[in-house]
Amino acid sequence: MAGEPQADCLFCKIVAGEVPATVVRETGTTLAFRDINPQAPTHVLVIPKAHYPDAASLAAAEPSVAADVLREAGQVAVDEKVEESGYRIIFNTGAGAGQTVFHAHAHVLGGRGLNWPPG
Ligand code: AMP
Ligand code: ZN
Repeated sequence: MAGEPQADCLFCKIVAGEVPATVVRETGTTLAFRDINPQAPTHVLVIPKAHYPDAASLAAAEPSVAADVLREAGQVAVDEKVEESGYRIIFNTGAGAGQTVFHAHAHVLGGRGLNWPPG
């Protein structure tokens, strides 16, 4: 069923506590934890606890949870003190765009110069 945990999904395992993560924020619907391979001084992933393969399918099925993810991404930026200097929220979607974990997640990147357009 849509949104149900997937046995082979790394981020579902993090939600379940079966794989450790450095959690920085948690709500009833979301979890935010540090990326294991950070690309910037602040690199936090914000995920819905429910399993959807990407951001668009999350937004289509549970728009309020998609909003929760965005709100939490903003709160991460406040907590990490990158709100004023600027930060980027990224949803890689599809293998061709670099998505490697097919459980929706927002990358929150900040704390260094961020070129535009990104590579
Ligand atoms: P993406 O390539 O957009 O699908 O992003 C997946 C991200 O998950 C990458 O930036 C990885 O470094 C990160 N990642 C992979 N495994 C873990 C883990 N166990 N804990 C935290 N982050 C992870
Ligand atoms: Zn999942």
